[in-house]
Amino acid sequence: MAVPENILIVGGGVFGLSTALSLSKRHPTSQVTLLEASPIIPNPHGSSVDSSRIIRADYSHPTYSKLAAEATDLWRTTEWGQDGRYTQNGLLLVYPDGNSTAKDYTTKSYHNVKQLGENAQLLPTKADVLRAAPAYGESLSVAGGYVNWSSGWADAEAGVRFAKQRLDKEGKVRFITGEVTRLLFSETDNQTVTGVVLANNTTITSDFVILATGAWTASLIDLRGRAVSTGQAIAYMRISDEEQRTLENMPTILNFATGIFIIPPRNNILKIARHAYGYHNPKPIPLPGSTAGETIHVSLPEHGVTIPLEGETAFRSALQQLLPTFADRPFLNTRVCWYTDTPKGDFIITHHPTHPHLLLATGGSGHAYKFFPVIGDKVVDALEGTLSPELRTLWDWPEAVDEERFEGTEDGSRSGEKGLVLGVELARGGNKGKRTGRAVL
Ligand SMILES: Cc1cc2nc3c(=O)[nH]c(=O)nc-3n(C[C@H](O)[C@H](O)[C@H](O)COP(=O)(O)OP(=O)(O)OC[C@H]3O[C@@H](n4cnc5c(N)ncnc54)[C@H](O)[C@@H]3O)c2cc1C
Repeated sequence: MAVPENILIVGGGVFGLSTALSLSKRHPTSQVTLLEASPIIPNPHGSSVDSSRIIRADYSHPTYSKLAAEATDLWRTTEWGQDGRYTQNGLLLVYPDGNSTAKDYTTKSYHNVKQLGENAQLLPTKADVLRAAPAYGESLSVAGGYVNWSSGWADAEAGVRFAKQRLDKEGKVRFITGEVTRLLFSETDNQTVTGVVLANNTTITSDFVILATGAWTASLIDLRGRAVSTGQAIAYMRISDEEQRTLENMPTILNFATGIFIIPPRNNILKIARHAYGYHNPKPIPLPGSTAGETIHVSLPEHGVTIPLEGETAFRSALQQLLPTFADRPFLNTRVCWYTDTPKGDFIITHHPTHPHLLLATGGSGHAYKFFPVIGDKVVDALEGTLSPELRTLWDWPEAVDEERFEGTEDGSRSGEKGLVLGVELARGGNKGKRTGRAVL
């Protein structure tokens, strides 16, 4: 399809900024506007903004492995990874005894990265795992895994700032601040998207709208059974200079038994996080696109709450195994960060099936950050209709699954309890959602 002259991107995270970069390069005559609810980009509450994100081609699905390897190459060899934005420290993927799903994911992932020529070594026993990462504790409950020294991590906030600054320097994309409350539809067919309505009731019209609104997307378009926002626990801890030196060069560890991962510290801050089914946060909202006054309940992000006791307990017990010296140390700050989970963990990068002039670029499912340097090109391919058949199939409008049983992504990489509700868990720990300050970055 011919690319529209006037395009509105909503959302200034990985998907939105990467799309803006690609449009400004490939379609310099289009008028592109990026609308973001946060007055600042990087948005401290956005999923793309944090101290770190793992950059890995370690996927059980060969298509993501290949694309991630292309993206990692750009993190390694171009401006994307300069000035400390990318560090190649390795990734240790481990699984416990008796968890065949995790072992299967790890084995497939190992074969995929070996095929791509990455520097990965199989670690068939616990002793091998501990030899690869001696900083981790002997009491680690692990049956085996592998280490990929070609993987690394990115300073996530710095990556977002870099993309924004690059766009500012180019000066082709217009940035505006405003929160979209609903899409605007053509009065003729009530289906074609013609723009957006903002919280202050102003409207912005556009030939074409790209929704890159991450975990908030379900408030603008009906995604029931297709994507669900899940809150994931993160905690930060201050460590000494000596501890920083001991830990800073260790590989990132991702333990499939618990979903817990620890990325090496920077600036004396150690981060621990969990890749899990996460917390749901159901909220009543008007059914998007409907004028009948129907209300639905969908999980949506909650800003600035501390993690529930359940998450803190999980972190303490993981630290007891991995880094016992830190097990009782107070956290400096904690945060619930939001995934946009699709049933199989595939992104949603597609024209909307029933609303012409609307494209969705979302469904990060807890793994989209690494694709920052390449994902915008794929979004523009989807806009033009030139996405490869393989990616088109993978990122098409997903079949809806049973909403009641849709806990989050089932791709073999998730752990933790299913069915946790944020409000219930916060109340259970006597924590009524104490507000945190800005995430420690
Ligand atoms: C704890 C955690 C750990 C992760 N770890 C990794 C990792 O190790 N490796 C990896 O590759 N990925 C990781 N991810 C996933 C990755 O960070 C996300 O997939 C990616 O950042 C999502 O980008 P986004 O653009 O969809 O969302 P966001 O960055 O949240 O951007 C969406 C933007 O849209 C704006 N917006 C929303 N609604 C509106 C509206 N109505 N009007 C205007 N603006 C609006 C928001 O303000 C926001 O800034 C992790 C995610 C989390 C939460």
